[in-house]
This record gives sequence, C-alpha cells and structure tokens, in this order.
Amino acid sequence: MRDGEAVIVILIGAPGSGKGTQSRKLSMSLSMPKISTGDILRSYTLSNHPLSDKINSIIASGSLVPDDILFSVISERLSSPDCDRGFILDGYPRNIQQATFLDSVLSQRKHRLVVVEIVVPEDVLIKRIAGRFSCKSCGTIYNQYFSKPKQAGICDQCGSSEFYYRVDDKESVVMERLRAYQLQTLPLIEFYNQRNLVCKVNGDKSSDEVHEDLLSCIFDKTPKIS
Ligand SMILES: [Zn+2]
Repeated sequence: MRDGEAVIVILIGAPGSGKGTQSRKLSMSLSMPKISTGDILRSYTLSNHPLSDKINSIIASGSLVPDDILFSVISERLSSPDCDRGFILDGYPRNIQQATFLDSVLSQRKHRLVVVEIVVPEDVLIKRIAGRFSCKSCGTIYNQYFSKPKQAGICDQCGSSEFYYRVDDKESVVMERLRAYQLQTLPLIEFYNQRNLVCKVNGDKSSDEVHEDLLSCIFDKTPKIS
C-alpha cells in the first residue's frame, strides 16, 4: 500500500455487475480483507457469539437483519487487526442511514475512503442475469448470450444434457430487482458524490480489464468511464 496509507474501498454495483468477482480480485491484489454483510452474518450463525441465536432466528424466519444488529456485527468485524491496513466493503452500506453509521465508525481511523461504482448498461445486466443457467449435474455456469456450451444442450464439463434455470432470473423479475437497486443506490451515490469520493468504472469489459480500471480508480481516482 502506498506510504502505508490505509485505504477503505466501498464497492457499489447492481446485481450482475460483477461486484462479487471484483471484490475478490481486489482483496487478493491489495492483500486486504473483503467484507460483506452476508459473510459476516454467516460467520456469526456458526459461532457461539451472544448474537448468534438472534441472528439465526432472524435468518430462519426469512426477515432482513435489522440495521442495529448489522451495526454491531460490522463495527466488531472492522475492529479486527486484519482491517488495520484497509478493507473492501462489498454490499455495505446500502442506504444513507448505514453510510452515516459507517462514517461514525471510520471517524476514529486514519484512512482514505474511495467509493467505486461499477456501471453496466441495463440491457447487459439483464442478459447477464436472465441468460444464466447451470448444469444440473456438475454446476458449471453458462449464459445463453455470452457463454453457451460448445455443443448446444450438452455440458462442456460433464456431458450432461440437463440444465437448471432459476425462476427469479426471469427477465421481468430481473428488471424489478434492478429498479429496486437503482432506487436504493442513487441517494447513496449522491451522498458520497457531495464529498467528491465517487469514482466510476465501466463494468461492461472483461473481468481483468475492470480489475485494472478499479485499481487506477482507487489509487489515482481516474474515472474509467466516459
Ligand atoms: Zn456438467
């Protein structure tokens, strides 16, 4: 890391933007932990922490974990030593209330905050999500627009001809998810934009190119989007 400076990266991107893949890549190349609420909550459900039972029952009931519980598990996670040199937040904060809370946690740290938005055109997102299918026997993931099996209807890996399509990946459902995402995310981007912290990257490129662009956004704050 440049001059030992701690960098905190908030990664924002719609479903299908490649945000999960990119946060893993960044975590490896920056040697910084990738922190997502999903991972944290999963680790609590498996531990003997005082909050574990509560979190388990909320998840089992299918409800969303309330902000106050998220606040305490996230601030606990961010206080562990592996976060001292910085970290990547994947999928948090999701709203202004969470962003304000994060500010209060981060106010006690010396760091540089960068918010990176991976931008992908809506029609590409829809194809990425709605076009996705996987092999029923080996799980290999395909996409009817971008990466079909070499021989139609036959899995490249195992030769099976049975595939699995998720119902909630249907185009109309995907559009609804994207709308909900936009509604939730625009105010958040605006919140950080007012402090000039947002850098945008074009996510409609190869995964390696997006990774390179993310790195130059994080270090030079050069937006890689026109
Ligand atoms: Zn297969």
